[in-house]
Amino acid sequence: MTLSNVDKLDVLRRLDQFRQWRSLDEKRFCLVCGKIITGHQINIGGGTRGDGPLRLSCPTERCNSIPMDWVLPTDEILAKVERAVAREREVAVPRTVPHGDGGHECGGSVDNSVASRLRQFAFFFKRHS
Ligand SMILES: [Zn+2]
Repeated sequence: MTLSNVDKLDVLRRLDQFRQWRSLDEKRFCLVCGKIITGHQINIGGGTRGDGPLRLSCPTERCNSIPMDWVLPTDEILAKVERAVAREREVAVPRTVPHGDGGHECGGSVDNSVASRLRQFAFFFKRHS
């Protein structure tokens, strides 16, 4: 179901009785899936036919946490998450080129080489058709 930001914040406030929501930009740390989520990302389910209670759920697939599992991300928690994410990246893609702040200077990344190969292919195709 789609709700306006104001309505969604209202639902969050009503259903999450454990912590205060001042805006949808606020972040929470989900203890079940170990991810940082924002108010925008939280799914609101149930009550789609106008009956039944509304339910908040974590945006992470297969994560069945409840609002009680969403804690405020303290500096300590954020540092822990950052370290875990960094470790995960090292293991998953050992040779990634870090993105610069400019965003336009990402030569050598995997996406880029695929794109350039596609361009070459398109060029070849045009010349020979
Ligand atoms: Zn979760």
